[in-house]
Amino acid sequence: MHEMSIALSIVDVVTAKAEEEHAKKINSIELEVGKVSGVEVESLKFCFSAAAKNTIAGDAALVIHEIEPAGECEECGTRFPVNFHYAKCESCGSFKTNIVSGRELLIKSIMLES
Ligand SMILES: [Zn+2]
Repeated sequence: MHEMSIALSIVDVVTAKAEEEHAKKINSIELEVGKVSGVEVESLKFCFSAAAKNTIAGDAALVIHEIEPAGECEECGTRFPVNFHYAKCESCGSFKTNIVSGRELLIKSIMLES
């Protein structure tokens, strides 16, 4: 399962960070997940609790911020919300649009208890 491998790598990253900081446990983890990243948020939460079990991240609250996808026009630089990869620019009508957000999967912050 896609979400399980993501959950496992999140656990790897946060536990390594906690060890580096000599933390006793991880209280919470904040994630940013883009709505067009292909990650199912509910499934990720479920996989995370399984992956974090018996680690110092086991009691951590997973806070997920979903990021609305946005496009940027190559012609005129306008930014606008998109829900499809081939979005039309709202301003000049160009189809040369780059998806500039919405695909991210980032660990935004980790709250540690030392
Ligand atoms: Zn444009």
